Amino acid sequence: MTLSRVIGWVFFGFSGVVFAQNRPLVVAHRGASGYLPEHTLAAKAYAHALGADFLEQDIVLTKDDVAVVLHDIYLDTVTDVAKKFPDRRRADGRYYVLDLTLAELKQLTVSERFHIKSGAAVYPRRFPPGDSGLSISTLDEELQFIQGMNRSTGRAAGIYPEIKQPQWHRAQGHDISRQVLVVLARNGYATKADACFLQCFEIEELRRVRLELGWRGRSIFLLDGKAKGAGGEGSRLLTAAGLQELAAWVDGIGPALGQIVAWPSPGSAAVVTDLVKQAHAAKLLVHPYTIRLDELPKNCPSIDALHTALFNEAGIDGVFSDFTDLTLAWLRSKR
Ligand code: CA
Repeated sequence: MTLSRVIGWVFFGFSGVVFAQNRPLVVAHRGASGYLPEHTLAAKAYAHALGADFLEQDIVLTKDDVAVVLHDIYLDTVTDVAKKFPDRRRADGRYYVLDLTLAELKQLTVSERFHIKSGAAVYPRRFPPGDSGLSISTLDEELQFIQGMNRSTGRAAGIYPEIKQPQWHRAQGHDISRQVLVVLARNGYATKADACFLQCFEIEELRRVRLELGWRGRSIFLLDGKAKGAGGEGSRLLTAAGLQELAAWVDGIGPALGQIVAWPSPGSAAVVTDLVKQAHAAKLLVHPYTIRLDELPKNCPSIDALHTALFNEAGIDGVFSDFTDLTLAWLRSKR
């Protein structure tokens, strides 16, 4: 086995259940979002049942500083907020999570993601948009829900929380990272022995979380698709020296798929970049995002071709997938 593969193996002792992984990790991106409205407890339950190693939480704050599990700082593309709280619309036409209290958020119904203007589904082959009967959960509620499933099934899924837009939250007068760390600690996620990866697109915030707020767990630095990731600092951090420097703050990186593999033209073979090799040389894990059956990279012929390129050619350590079942099935049969 190669050194990079060893780095990819993760062992956690967690809630009395040993979590041992001898293959790349499958992170259920927003839950089993290929099948159920993203970030609902139903989507998390299904992802757990499908065998996901980790379940992802995107986190934003409410007006009363409660950490809730939603992908965007906006509410209008995944809920009926425009119908229930029409007066909360800001001048830019959007509805913000930060403008509603938790009690108000709990009155909303979650929908499959839709386009604001047309109301059409973003992913037409998925769960239909509209009233799903499902609601928004706090981070506390979701972590307790996952631990309940870990206990009842005897299989421990880890968590993969993302602090969304911390700079923006601070500019609005809210310290999201501080709130998130309190909830994580309260639920037993605090050190590298706990089955948790904390992720963020803002490297300055990951430094702050480590140095100022005392986070001792694992961290993943997310890179935006343009290979910048941290403003002007981003491209420098992706050099060999930059990655070595990053390893002092974080345990791994979360690049976009396109930073690892591309198909230059229809029918061409996959072209793999050096990013995974360089990250492994710096002892950083690589967990790219996002595998979607209904949104493959340009010119990529199939989801199997994508899995083959990522796992067998690039050698990634884990991946965010909207389709936990397809990614796991590939890992079990083809790798
Ligand atoms: Ca995310």
